[in-house]
Amino acid sequence: MNDISVIEREFKELDAWRTAPEFWPALPAQAEGLIQRLRQAKRQLIGHSAGGREIFALEYGEKEPIDAGTDNLHSALSASLTPPDPTAIYPGSFYGMRRRRKPAVVFQGAIHGSELTGTVASLNLCWIIETGKDLRGKEWPRLRELARNSRIAIIPWLNMDGAMRSPWGQFSGMPSAAASCINLGVTREGAKLAYPAHKELFPIAPSGMAFMGTYFNDAGVNLQYDFCSLAREPETCAWMDYYLDERPDGVVVWHCNAGSLIGPPGYYLPQGYQLQEARIGGVVRARLQREGYVAGRMSWANLPGLGKPVIDQTTAVYHVCGAAPIMCELPAGCREYFFTLDDMLDIGLIVIEEILAYAHSDGLRPYELWEKVRKQTTKQEPSQK
Ligand SMILES: [Zn+2]
Repeated sequence: MNDISVIEREFKELDAWRTAPEFWPALPAQAEGLIQRLRQAKRQLIGHSAGGREIFALEYGEKEPIDAGTDNLHSALSASLTPPDPTAIYPGSFYGMRRRRKPAVVFQGAIHGSELTGTVASLNLCWIIETGKDLRGKEWPRLRELARNSRIAIIPWLNMDGAMRSPWGQFSGMPSAAASCINLGVTREGAKLAYPAHKELFPIAPSGMAFMGTYFNDAGVNLQYDFCSLAREPETCAWMDYYLDERPDGVVVWHCNAGSLIGPPGYYLPQGYQLQEARIGGVVRARLQREGYVAGRMSWANLPGLGKPVIDQTTAVYHVCGAAPIMCELPAGCREYFFTLDDMLDIGLIVIEEILAYAHSDGLRPYELWEKVRKQTTKQEPSQK
């Protein structure tokens, strides 16, 4: 299932995409040196993949404890019957009685192993937090300030099996047909799995694949839809455990396509969370347009899931840990929807900056204004800043 020669035979000359500049630490092997150089990050093991590989998070900022009595959001939500107020959705028994003083945000990369633009942006964010500059030497003073005043946790590769399966860590200018084979794979009979029809099979049979696409973990599971499985994969248990323990305000879920960016909001999210995600999408798109980036050009209407009663991993994040899930499809940069690596890194960092700015002003919980909350928490604890 790891035979990359079936792809190399079909698409000649893919060698150029095996390497990337130092500012593009996309694959675990390409990022190893950078991660070792980080001085302020706490590296936290959060679980193992189906293939036995370590999954880890890089954490910045103090973790503020929560005085919650239960790990079950839906039980806590059901603990009072009246009044029926759709804005009263933060039971203290789950979210804690005392508010944190800083926004807490998780950036989750590579649930699909070759969708790596968000991983690259997140690892550049580490360098910005530590040095003020991204890996190209470009300064991001506002982003640094926002990030250093937050609790940040970065999971570079949730699907470590998928990320380790392919030697190609960047797709700028690669024909989409080749990228699709790398993502989805080729069967032993030579058939290419096609998006989105491949989702009719869950899981796919690893033994039937000459090259199993990087979408899947070693058990052939697309972790995007594992939440409702009877026996969940270890990667799913890992993020569920970690997000419950972290109980962040928001989880940014990175994917890649032509660059449709934030959303669409999940069908099974509370209305406030759907509106929140749409508002953040507007903020991000407006900023990118001001900066001259043609992104967000794909219509949401063509994306599967919009209006369909689906619970994918993004929606599941809310139901497990109560955080605002923010799904972002960053560009992969393939030939038909081309972006340079430079532009894609800028786009990724701008998205992060706008989400953090939103977390520090409006706040990631719907129906609350974080600036107001912060004034109250500052009043509660005058000795602490
Ligand atoms: Zn994806």
